[in-house]
Amino acid sequence: MDIVKGNGPITGEQIAERLKLTRSTLRPDLAILTMAGFLDARPRVGYFYSGKKTSQAISDNIAQMVVKDFQSIPVVVEESMTVYDAICHMFLEDVGSLFVVDKQSLLSGVLSRKDFLRTSIGNQDLNKMPVHMIMTRMPNITYCMKEDTLIEVANKLMSRQIDSLPVVKERKDGLEVVGRITKTNITRAFLSLADDHDL
Ligand code: ADP
Repeated sequence: MDIVKGNGPITGEQIAERLKLTRSTLRPDLAILTMAGFLDARPRVGYFYSGKKTSQAISDNIAQMVVKDFQSIPVVVEESMTVYDAICHMFLEDVGSLFVVDKQSLLSGVLSRKDFLRTSIGNQDLNKMPVHMIMTRMPNITYCMKEDTLIEVANKLMSRQIDSLPVVKERKDGLEVVGRITKTNITRAFLSLADDHDL
């Protein structure tokens, strides 16, 4: 940052030379500083100091965070699975919610820990009951797409008071589940921000 501030515009090659590093070693650092908004880069001119305030750089950074960079792998079960097996599945996969798909592999429901607790304290045989009897079903499912921002996701999680959203791809006959985004992913994004900005 000091080198660019004092000498900009300056090429990546020249910065590397001054730091006695190779250009390729320096490349990720320059990419982060540019993405975070501290430096600007112009082709064939080089890097120069953008003069942007840290708070501005952080808010730009937040606004650019999108689902596809932070999502997890979805854990999916079929509508006919028994509640008992689905509870075991939730433990084995170590997740807080399961997504239910129909025979065409399209999203049909969501199962949370509370759905299982509610059913378990009732007087039902969990080994005989299929999950489609207890799931929250379409069209009442809140979902997102992989290009959505984390701000949009966080708003949905808070306003609907839920812990996770399926990430979906629209198909002509329904929604295909391609990912899962949870409060944990949002917390991870928050920490990556702290890391990027040396907080
Ligand atoms: P927990 O049961 O662990 O508190 P949630 O707060 O996510 O987890 O779930 C609360 C209720 O909301 C459950 O009945 C669940 O089926 C439903 N639910 C969870 N995620 C979604 C979603 N993305 N869209 C619609 N309903 C959901």
